[in-house]
Amino acid sequence: MATSYDVIVVGGGVVGAAAARELSREGRRVVVLDPGDERGQAWRAAAGMLAPQIEATDNEALHELSVAGRDRYAELAPELLADTGIDVGLWREGIAQVATEPAQAEVLRARVAQQRQQGQVSDWLDADEARSRWPWVRDLAGALWAPMDGALDPKALVHALLTDARNNGASTINVEVSAVVRTGDRVTGVIADDEYSADDVIIAAGAWSGRIGGLPRPLSVEPVRGQMAAMPWPAEVPRAILYADDCYVVARGDEALVGSTMEYAGFDASVSDEGQQRIWAGIRKLCPPIGAARAHRTWAGLRPVTPDGLPIVGPAPDVAGLWYATGHGRNGVLLAGITALLLQQMLRGDAVHEHVLAMSPSRLWKW
Ligand SMILES: Cc1cc2nc3c(=O)[nH]c(=O)nc-3n(C[C@H](O)[C@H](O)[C@H](O)COP(=O)(O)OP(=O)(O)OC[C@H]3O[C@@H](n4cnc5c(N)ncnc54)[C@H](O)[C@@H]3O)c2cc1C
Repeated sequence: MATSYDVIVVGGGVVGAAAARELSREGRRVVVLDPGDERGQAWRAAAGMLAPQIEATDNEALHELSVAGRDRYAELAPELLADTGIDVGLWREGIAQVATEPAQAEVLRARVAQQRQQGQVSDWLDADEARSRWPWVRDLAGALWAPMDGALDPKALVHALLTDARNNGASTINVEVSAVVRTGDRVTGVIADDEYSADDVIIAAGAWSGRIGGLPRPLSVEPVRGQMAAMPWPAEVPRAILYADDCYVVARGDEALVGSTMEYAGFDASVSDEGQQRIWAGIRKLCPPIGAARAHRTWAGLRPVTPDGLPIVGPAPDVAGLWYATGHGRNGVLLAGITALLLQQMLRGDAVHEHVLAMSPSRLWKW
């Protein structure tokens, strides 16, 4: 006899955990199934930046969702602290994207103008002003300053979301899902160590989403490896988050987190000499005091990336009760909180903003 729930969330990464938290808060019986092992999950690897203005995309729908995703954490972080006692480390002190040569400066200055037209808070800092703020950065030709962008600690976030979901009655079980189960044109559950049944199943298994058996159509989500390194944050350097063309550095606790590569390496989540050298070359050029330190940790994770760069959020066409929440690529931490709210609206049958149609799974299949 299958154990029965209202909703099964396949994957307890940042997206699945956020969905479980929202759905359990409205009284649904939710179970999160996740192997709980170390396989290069993106949430364990992520730098945790909330950077819609720095990672700006030309897709208007995704951009608006990204800004809403960042702003969602202003509510969610204090709620999680109050409800679970877990501090997700929300940092809202801005991110700078720096230009190290005049041609880059022109591109960034144009982006500042565009963001201001869109009503966002975005400032252009000329070379002198940028140098006065970050004298330890080399070759500054100017910077885009996004004072509303920030960061949080993704591991603390997942811990807090799952804790809150459990407080609201959700179960979390360490098992790997092998397949969804369908009867006719409706999903009825999943197979893991046992059979679990539910009215709704949400596929939120990150880069592994397409490997789940029994999906009605092939799912285009590929793993893209990102390598990172951490070293002590130099005592003489004020804490900051800086982005350049080929690397970024994030202050978290007493560490500098430096990243990252974008590599097609299949499901291999190991660290390579070549990848680390690339990160180090970037950071030595950008921030010599940080680049001079030795890494005390290195790691890698697999981002779930789609062919058109947009997440896949919404109902599976033709199969009632099956939902996708995956493919968030480089910005799944940023987008997790807002994705969970969208899923909540969709599962309730509420109208969702038309921008969400751009993320619809049905765009992937013309057949
Ligand atoms: C190096 C690096 C840096 C990043 N930096 C940022 C950043 O600064 N800001 C940002 O917004 N995003 C960042 N990202 C991207 C972000 O981490 C991802 O977009 C996000 O984690 C995707 O969330 P997810 O829950 O879909 O996938 P994941 O976080 O990968 O979680 C998927 C979960 O599914 C589980 N799972 C897998 N297979 C199964 C199965 N068969 N059954 C059940 N469960 C399964 C896994 O165990 C995992 O817990 C970064 C990623 C990397 C790798």
